[in-house]
Amino acid sequence: MRIICATNNKGKISEIKEIFKGTDFEIVSLKEAGITHNTVEDADTFMGNAIKKAKEIYELTKTPALSDDSGLVVDALDGAPGVYSARFAGENATDSENIQKLLKLMEGKTNRAARFECSIALVLSDSEIITATGRCEGEITTSPRGEGGFGYDPVFFVKEYKKTFAEIPMEEKNKISHRARALKELMRVLKEKSII
Ligand code: IMP
Repeated sequence: MRIICATNNKGKISEIKEIFKGTDFEIVSLKEAGITHNTVEDADTFMGNAIKKAKEIYELTKTPALSDDSGLVVDALDGAPGVYSARFAGENATDSENIQKLLKLMEGKTNRAARFECSIALVLSDSEIITATGRCEGEITTSPRGEGGFGYDPVFFVKEYKKTFAEIPMEEKNKISHRARALKELMRVLKEKSII
């Protein structure tokens, strides 16, 4: 069975293909499926956005559709940047502008607890949606560290590794990331429901 992934991000597609390897599902990107569609991500939760994107692609194609939405949640900022993670410092903000805004808001804060969250929705039919969420706990540093990764990786410190996400090799990050955990949870639910 085909699953259309509501993304053209190569990193995400290969991570998703990897996890579905050996199953009956064939993962294709929007591009591979010949679809150009942009969902307006205006829900106020990660899951709301993930479900919206997957449903829109399913409605267009009547083929199972999978979508994810993720971001950074900071306790001392009441959950910000949250669903605004990509555009925290403005509509076309760069990673570095978003990081600068975050560090400024975190100045003087003693509670630096934060987590990356990822919600995944898989629309299988008109009446069946499978959802899963994954989290990765960490702390916001006071300055950026490391060259790898993307987004908020240089300011996201993971205690177990004593490193920021930007200092952890990609293969390691991909084992413990919010997205990896959400994908594992999705697999668990699919197996539990005997769908795979
Ligand atoms: P998306 O929903 O995966 O596109 O993520 C939205 C935004 O959240 C990204 O533009 C990043 O700013 C942030 N984000 C999500 N996942 C990560 C991550 O693994 N590292 C750093 N930033 C992330």
